[in-house]
Amino acid sequence: MFKKANNLKKIISQPKNIVITTHRGPDGDAMGSSLALYNLLINIGHKVNVITPNDYASFLNWMPGNDTVIEYDGNEEKSILITSKADIIFMLDFNSITRLDNFSQTVSDSKAFKVLIDHHQDPDMKIADLIFSDSTSCSTAQLLYELIEAMNMTNDINMDIAECLYVGIMTDTGSFKYNSTTSRTHNVIANLIDKGARNSKIHDLIYDNSSADRMKLLGYCINDKLLLYPENNAAIISLTDEELNRFNFKKGDTEGIINYALAIKGIIFAVLIVQRGDIVKLSLRSKGNFKVNLIANKYFNGGGHTNASGGMTYMTVNETIKKVESIINKYKKELNN
Ligand code: 5GP
Ligand code: MN
Repeated sequence: MFKKANNLKKIISQPKNIVITTHRGPDGDAMGSSLALYNLLINIGHKVNVITPNDYASFLNWMPGNDTVIEYDGNEEKSILITSKADIIFMLDFNSITRLDNFSQTVSDSKAFKVLIDHHQDPDMKIADLIFSDSTSCSTAQLLYELIEAMNMTNDINMDIAECLYVGIMTDTGSFKYNSTTSRTHNVIANLIDKGARNSKIHDLIYDNSSADRMKLLGYCINDKLLLYPENNAAIISLTDEELNRFNFKKGDTEGIINYALAIKGIIFAVLIVQRGDIVKLSLRSKGNFKVNLIANKYFNGGGHTNASGGMTYMTVNETIKKVESIINKYKKELNN
């Protein structure tokens, strides 16, 4: 880490044109780490643009620097032009170029120096020139903090940067409750609070910021849409386009719903199935040793972490439910372990 961090410190010691990008459907860690890095690099004199493949939940858009973020979808020409001028591209919170979706070709074609900072398992080592990868880290935001520390730059962490990092760590640890949370995580968080991160306010801005429609959608999911397989400790919730429309769906509204299925006593495997036009998105969550990243990868063209993964299919919602049910049956032994 130190040698590579020193290397990076040298590279960013002169003003550069920099692009920061992150995975499609950016979550709190993706946006938190990207905007933390954005603010750090801006403050030391770089020209920086954050380009996301697409849009993200509105509960993230209060973060400092958010107003400058460019979404590739809908701003293709601008994004391609900016990327063509980049000396450095930072890639945060993903391990395979395909996670950039429509923006991936532009990034892979670019001759810029590429730096990957990520906490997913088995990153594609060909996607960047310099790789900071640690799958034991709870979040890309924590890994970025470690990197800033290794570069001897913690003095550059101001309140804005601290709050962005806080968001990344908080959201990717389920508010410091997942297994990935360590004493180190709490130490980093303590440092961020000392740098000015308004911890209580941030929880409020992220979690207590729902529309009434979203809360009603949540109630509907639990009341009407929860399929339980108690003999296999599993649960499924599914939503069609029509149901989403009924609750005036906005980006981010389904985030967190799956955790309520996992909050039921005994449930160790939960799947949220959401129709999005022609595709169906899956969110897979587990407790303990049941590795949902293997399931996401093997059956749903996706991946992620041991206990939190995602994927997609081109099947209908009902076909997807059937497929997940057959997977639950197939893995009944592991689920009853
Ligand atoms: P979510 O269920 O919140 O969409 O995603 C949970 C985690 O799964 C993400 O943090 C990410 O690591 C991973 N993930 C989600 N969708 C995909 C996907 O399509 N491909 C891969 N490789 N990982 C995904
Ligand atoms: Mn992450």
